[in-house]
Amino acid sequence: MTSRHVTAPVTRGGVKSQLPKELLNASLFPWESGSSSTFFITHLSTMNLTTVEKTLEGGCTCRTVRYRLTSKPLIVHCCHCTWCQRETGSAFAINALFPAEDVIHLNEEPITIKIPSLSGRGQIIARCPRCSAAVWSNYAGGGPAIRFIRVGTLDEPGETVPDVHIYTSTKVPWVVLPDGVEVFEEYYDVAKVWGKETSERRFEVLERVKSGKGV
Ligand SMILES: [Zn+2]
Ligand SMILES: [Zn+2]
Repeated sequence: MTSRHVTAPVTRGGVKSQLPKELLNASLFPWESGSSSTFFITHLSTMNLTTVEKTLEGGCTCRTVRYRLTSKPLIVHCCHCTWCQRETGSAFAINALFPAEDVIHLNEEPITIKIPSLSGRGQIIARCPRCSAAVWSNYAGGGPAIRFIRVGTLDEPGETVPDVHIYTSTKVPWVVLPDGVEVFEEYYDVAKVWGKETSERRFEVLERVKSGKGV
């Protein structure tokens, strides 16, 4: 896998043309233009949402991409692999996994970019078309059925705690994991670990991925 596999950004849906003029004209840097009053407008659609406990929301830096999560995460990964370290420029990445249909975009759609991945099958990253912040990814295993929400883009990221720490064989030495957390040196057996919570929802998503509908 080399950088030759990177493809150009693709805009999905052409939603930008439907955005109100004040949002399209808003500056990415409102503190420079004084346009902050129009910049932070959020356009909510009327939708039937199934709320499970607290509804999580998040988005990019410039608020062009805002999302709402209509269910609880299937699982939350803290990934210590060298790919996540390199892509984030940090020690690890935290991803909360959701069925794609439970990730509702409230404003503009992100653009998707394919990049190389550890599996060799590529990763799709959804980025804001204006500020380029990455909000979620698809990996080959779950395909488009599962979106890996970047927990740092949640409005309150501290509330979403990792269930598992993965690829700890490459964890940086100064990160000390809390007692009692589930740790895997590489990846884990999805059916086994997800099976610990025997909710129908997890089972349905796994079946969809296995059957190839989500891949
Ligand atoms: Zn943005
Ligand atoms: Zn990783």
